[in-house]
Amino acid sequence: MKPVEVLQKLSDGFGVAGFEDEVRETIAGLVSPLVDEVRTDALGNLFAIRRGAATKGKARTLMLDAHMDEVGFMVKWIDERGYLRFAPIGGWDERIVPGHRVVVQTRDGAKRHGVIGTAPPHILSPEEQKKPIPIDAMFVDVGATSKEEAAAMGIRIGDPFTIHYSFVELRDGYVTGKAFDDRAGCTVLIETARRLAERALAVDVAFAFVFGEEVGLRGARTAAYQLDPDVALAIEGTIGADMPGVAPESQPVRLGQGPAISVADRSIVVSRRMVAALETVAEGASIPYQYKLPTYGGTDAGAIHLSRGGVLSGVISVPCRYIHSPISTLRLDDLEATIRLTGAFVEALPDALF
Ligand SMILES: [Zn+2]
Repeated sequence: MKPVEVLQKLSDGFGVAGFEDEVRETIAGLVSPLVDEVRTDALGNLFAIRRGAATKGKARTLMLDAHMDEVGFMVKWIDERGYLRFAPIGGWDERIVPGHRVVVQTRDGAKRHGVIGTAPPHILSPEEQKKPIPIDAMFVDVGATSKEEAAAMGIRIGDPFTIHYSFVELRDGYVTGKAFDDRAGCTVLIETARRLAERALAVDVAFAFVFGEEVGLRGARTAAYQLDPDVALAIEGTIGADMPGVAPESQPVRLGQGPAISVADRSIVVSRRMVAALETVAEGASIPYQYKLPTYGGTDAGAIHLSRGGVLSGVISVPCRYIHSPISTLRLDDLEATIRLTGAFVEALPDALF
């Protein structure tokens, strides 16, 4: 499978934070043939372990992190007429939530379709038309006409749902789909595992596909504790903001300029040693890169670097536009350059850092 096909499969998969099972199973199937060991933990992280040859005594361990979860919603009430009321899971801008089609995952894993309905402009006052609708006041219409009919469709309080748009290539090398934050990172990890599968490594590599980043870096924290790595790199799909109306100094990253190396975000100030190693590796392999402007967003590295006695950690990101909305976009050349940088970094260890 080519990286674009992996991205498509993962983007179209269901994985609201706390409900990553479907995506996790897909990833496990893809990485299992490429590594020495695959295991999951009690809360739903997935680890794929590649053992390197220990050169001097104990091998160093590199943790490569990407989060499986995506932002979504949860059913919080089903009213007498069968409408679903809901709460956000992860960070949403309420202005862009209404007027979309959704997919609800029921307790038995079945998918039900619905729409986030809105009152038509004809019946709204000019005042009402200007105001964003609070999420509390929104509803999903699944076609049920009573609480009982919704129950008969298998829908219950606590069921998660996403706004779902299928993956599409807009033009050569430029694609759109949901949840590129962070299925782009998951794709980078899977493809890195594939390219390194036949190569001897000087470090152990733990590919960590973690849960619950969007609700507070939860999976990364427990993953880092278990893996006890010497160094970690979080791979993200992050805030591409080169678009009309945004000044250059407010664009955290730009599309078409390669992976973004983080120097600091809201969750970590990256060690200069780490930033320098990534710059050196990228330049040595002629991989274009940019900096993610400080200090936007938080990443799994925020949790990982504070694990145990502290872990030397960095972040690189695939630039993605429109994240935390129903439609993200990315350029495949940025995805490819991020895969190359990740692989080159693995092969430069341990010398690049230790
Ligand atoms: Zn993310």
